[in-house]
Amino acid sequence: MTAHFAIIGSGPSGMYAADALLEGIPDCHIDVYDRLPAPFGLIRYGVAPDHYKTKNTARQFARTLDLPNVRFFGNVEIGRDVTLDELKMLYDGVILAIGAYNDRPLGIPGEDLAGVYGACAFVGWYNGHPDYRDLNPLLDKDAVAVVGVGNVALDVCRVLAKTVAEMDDSDIAEHALAAIQKAPLKNLYMFGRRGPIEAGFTPKELGELRELERAVAFVDSKQLPDTVTGEFEGREKGVKEKNLTIFKELATHQPGTKAIDMKIEFYAAPKEILGTTRVEGIRMERTKVENGKAISTGETFDVPCGAVVKAIGYFSTAPAGVPMNGNGTIANVDGWVVDNLWVVGWSKRGPSGTIPTNGPESREVAQRVIAEYQSAPGTEKSGGDAVALLLKSRNVRSVDYPGWKKIATAEVARATGGHPQEKFTRIDEMLAVLN
Ligand SMILES: Cc1cc2nc3c(=O)[nH]c(=O)nc-3n(C[C@H](O)[C@H](O)[C@H](O)COP(=O)(O)OP(=O)(O)OC[C@H]3O[C@@H](n4cnc5c(N)ncnc54)[C@H](O)[C@@H]3O)c2cc1C
Repeated sequence: MTAHFAIIGSGPSGMYAADALLEGIPDCHIDVYDRLPAPFGLIRYGVAPDHYKTKNTARQFARTLDLPNVRFFGNVEIGRDVTLDELKMLYDGVILAIGAYNDRPLGIPGEDLAGVYGACAFVGWYNGHPDYRDLNPLLDKDAVAVVGVGNVALDVCRVLAKTVAEMDDSDIAEHALAAIQKAPLKNLYMFGRRGPIEAGFTPKELGELRELERAVAFVDSKQLPDTVTGEFEGREKGVKEKNLTIFKELATHQPGTKAIDMKIEFYAAPKEILGTTRVEGIRMERTKVENGKAISTGETFDVPCGAVVKAIGYFSTAPAGVPMNGNGTIANVDGWVVDNLWVVGWSKRGPSGTIPTNGPESREVAQRVIAEYQSAPGTEKSGGDAVALLLKSRNVRSVDYPGWKKIATAEVARATGGHPQEKFTRIDEMLAVLN
């Protein structure tokens, strides 16, 4: 009897789970579903375009999708094209690896104004995600404020600040590069509610701000402590110390020395986004940090800007019937959700960690899936063959892995300059390659 497993989502967590299932049961059949024709989730649509080398992680996953007992069903959304109940019936185990694609709200007045964007949408826009192709963010004023002091906020500011030459070896979407270069940017802000020690940056990414051609990144030295204090140990403490060293260097930078000033401002929480029909500024409230928490001081200041990007985290939404926790993760016990349904990755634990962080956790859950299957194998399931028939009867055009490789080859072929690829940013453009 052959074991049949379905994985919903081809991002890192889903692909690590596939690898672990194959390690445990080498002849099992695995079908990987993704709502987009393109596999690998945020490796393609989250990782910054100028960090193209990071995207090489996908090579390992590409080898998995090339195996004869692994099938890719791209352009198939579970919950829309096929129901979760159908998959649960047709497979021995189903693993949700659907990530977290909704931006957390700030919950302040003015958040609905034109010119306010979640990082998921904004990053998706410059990375060519079809959902955000037509975002057309308002970049017509000279300032953009980013709320958040983690690596996503850094990515957004860096991509906005870089020149065409600096982006030449990136895979930024053409439409976004053109819009950013046209923008009359003079001021970029990153605001953090808490202090420099609490900021979520990693030193390598923070350090890149020192080398920007047309932007000078700086921080007010008065916001920096002399040393890292607090309950940090080991690696975490090391990261904080390296960050502090970089912040101290940034504090020596002089604003106004390059075309764009990029200010990292701590102890500042958003109170209101200002404007009548569109963003005209952001009102910030000065905070102080007590026991690691930001406390309001009542003192406010306004910063004029034409757009606000919220980079404060994401939450998941799952197909109907999947139990959710209040924080936007899928309710589970060690990865088990209900019946033969499991969950891994950002949809399980929330939006934290890098690509490799997903590996050990997906492996653990996959081992549980295997143990469950082996303890009660049941009858042979029809798996992907039955789903393929369902899709045909519903006129859903799925993209298999050879099909995806054709699309990817066409993306490389149409790249110009030093760009490694020029992504198709609309699903019909991708499908047209296969006609
Ligand atoms: C802006 C940004 C930049 C990042 N940069 C880095 C970096 O430089 N280096 C690094 O190591 N990590 C980086 N990360 C973190 C890394 O991307 C994540 O740890 C990782 O992608 C999470 O994997 P996942 O599989 O849980 O989710 P995802 O990668 O989001 O994959 C989820 C997949 O599920 C699919 N899906 C969703 N719903 C459905 C459905 N109903 N049916 C079918 N398919 C569905 C999606 O299309 C997607 O392909 C970054 C994250 C972000 C947001």
